[in-house]
Amino acid sequence: MEDIYDVIIAGCGPTGATFANYFGKHNLKVLLFDTAPDIIDYPRAVHIDEDVIRIFQELGLYEDMKKDAIKPFENYALVSKKDKVLFQFQPDSSVSEDIPDCNWILQPEIEKHLRNGFSLYPNVTFLKETTWTDLSQTKEELSLVLTDKENTVTRVKAKFLIACDGGKSPIRKRMGISVYDFGFKKEWFVIDTNYFGKQLFSEDHKQFCDPKQPITYVNGVNNHFRWEFMVSEQDSALSDELLADKMIPKLKALFPIEEFEIIRQKKYAFHTLLANSWRSGRVFLAGDAAHQMPPFLGQGMCSGIKDAKNLSWKIVRACLNPGEETEQLLDSYYTERAPQVRKIIRLAAILGGFIQYSNPILSPLRNGLLRIFNILPSKPIDALINKHLYGLDIDNFSRFKHSLVGKRLPQPIVWTKDDQLYFDELCGFNWVVLYRAESKIYPLELSGVLKFIPLVTGFPIYGNEIKSVLFTKWMAEQKADFVIIRPDKFIFNIGNEKEYDTIIQRTQSYLNKIYSN
Ligand SMILES: Cc1cc2nc3c(=O)[nH]c(=O)nc-3n(C[C@H](O)[C@H](O)[C@H](O)COP(=O)(O)OP(=O)(O)OC[C@H]3O[C@@H](n4cnc5c(N)ncnc54)[C@H](O)[C@@H]3O)c2cc1C
Repeated sequence: MEDIYDVIIAGCGPTGATFANYFGKHNLKVLLFDTAPDIIDYPRAVHIDEDVIRIFQELGLYEDMKKDAIKPFENYALVSKKDKVLFQFQPDSSVSEDIPDCNWILQPEIEKHLRNGFSLYPNVTFLKETTWTDLSQTKEELSLVLTDKENTVTRVKAKFLIACDGGKSPIRKRMGISVYDFGFKKEWFVIDTNYFGKQLFSEDHKQFCDPKQPITYVNGVNNHFRWEFMVSEQDSALSDELLADKMIPKLKALFPIEEFEIIRQKKYAFHTLLANSWRSGRVFLAGDAAHQMPPFLGQGMCSGIKDAKNLSWKIVRACLNPGEETEQLLDSYYTERAPQVRKIIRLAAILGGFIQYSNPILSPLRNGLLRIFNILPSKPIDALINKHLYGLDIDNFSRFKHSLVGKRLPQPIVWTKDDQLYFDELCGFNWVVLYRAESKIYPLELSGVLKFIPLVTGFPIYGNEIKSVLFTKWMAEQKADFVIIRPDKFIFNIGNEKEYDTIIQRTQSYLNKIYSN
C-alpha cells in the first residue's frame, strides 16, 4: 500500500524547511525528502530582512535564532577603492517594533534552527538521501516514486507536491516549465573567514566601488567575515585556488588577512532567472526553483521563505476544502508573488550593475552621482522599498481598492489584559479584524473564521481588547476604523465605520466559500 500525504516537499533547503514548519504547525500530513545527507554546510546567504524574521517569529523560532544566529546591522555604504564614503544609507523600512530591517545570518545556522523546528511535529516525516525517479499526476492526486541510497523504492501519493529543489530544480524540468532570463550574469569569488583577533573592524556593510576590482565586505554573525570579489572575464577560467592567489593579496591591502582563518573560498555565477509558471496542476515551484537573483539586495533566500509564507496557508485551505474557490486561491500564489520577485530581481540587477561598473573613464561619474545621492534625504528610498519590495497585488474583490491593500500590517508590541506581546502572536494564523472600540463597529456574531480584536486607547483592559499607541496613531493617519488582515499578515481591506457593513459582509461571504469545511 502506498503512503498518502497531504503535501510532499522535495528539497530541504531554507524554502522546503520553512514550508515543513508551516504545514507541521497546521497539522497537515507531510513528507519532506532531500538528496543530501545533511545541510549544505558552507555559508551562502548572509542577510535576512524584517519580513523573514516575522516569519521565524510566527513559527516560534526567532527567540532561539536571536541567541546565536542573527546580528542586526544599520549602515549600508558604497565606498571608493580607498574606503571613502560615496553613499551611505541606514535602511529604516521596518514596520515592526523592535525588529530591525537588516540582519546578518549564517545560512547553515538558520537551516539548523528550521530543521529543529519541524522535527517537533510528528505529522512531518523527513527522509534524507532520497530522490524521486518517477512523478505523475491526475486531477485528483499526485504520485511519486522515491529511491533512497540503498536503492529501496517507495511509492507515495499526495494532494500537492512543492518543488523546493534549488536552482537546477529537476522537478521544474520534469514539468517542462521554462525560465525567463533577465540577462544579468556575473561571476564573483566569495571568501568566508572567521576572525579570532582583538582588532575592531567596521560594522558597516560595504561595497567597494573600485572599477578595477569591485569588492563586497560583510562583518557578520559572531566571528564571521565575508569578502566577495567580482571575477573579470579573463579570470573566468581560473580555478578557485588560482583565484584565491589573485584575490588574497588585494585583501591584504585592506585587512590583516593573516589573522583570519579562511573557512571557504568559492566562485559563484550570479543569474537573474524567473520561472514562467510556478504551478503545473498539483505541483508548485518555490524558492530558487522558481527564481534566482544576484545577492546584492540579499533577497534570494528571503524570497523563498516568503514564497512559503504566501503559499502555505493557501495549501492548507485547499487540502481541507478542495473546490473552485480554493483553486483560485492557489493560483493567486503566482499572481501575488511573481510580480514582487520580478521587481526584486530587476532591482538587484540594477544595483549589481552599478557596483560592478568597471569603465575606468566613466566610473568617476558614477562616484560623483553617488556623492550627490548621498546628500539627499534617505526617507524616499525607504518609502520606495516599502511600496515596491514589500507590497503584494492582492485581489480583495472590491471595485475600488484602498492603496494599503496588499501592504504589510505594522507589528507593534501590544498591551492585553494580562500581557505584552507582538501583535502577530495575538493574530496567530487567523483572519483578523482589528477595529477601534470607540467607533460604531460591532463584531459579527458567530462569524467563526474572523477573529475580532478591539483596539482601545485607555486602561484598564477587561476582555480581549488591546492597547497600542502605534496602532492608534496609524489608524488615525489612515483615517480608518477597522482593518482586515489575512493569515499572512497582509492587509486584505481597510475602511471607516460607514464602509464597514459592506466590506465585512463581502469578506465574510468570501471566507464562507474557502472555509466551508
Ligand atoms: C554567495 C551567495 C550569497 C547569497 N547571499 C544571500 C543573502 O545574503 N540573502 C539571501 O536571502 N539569499 C542569499 N543567497 C541565496 C540563497 O543562498 C538561496 O536563494 C537559497 O539557498 C535558496 O534556498 P532554496 O531552499 O530555495 O534552495 P537550496 O538552498 O538550493 O536547497 C535546495 C535543496 O534541494 C535539494 N535537492 C536538489 N535536488 C533534489 C532532488 N532531486 N530531490 C530532493 N532534493 C533535492 C538540495 O540537496 C538542497 O538541500 C546567496 C547565495 C549565494 C550563492
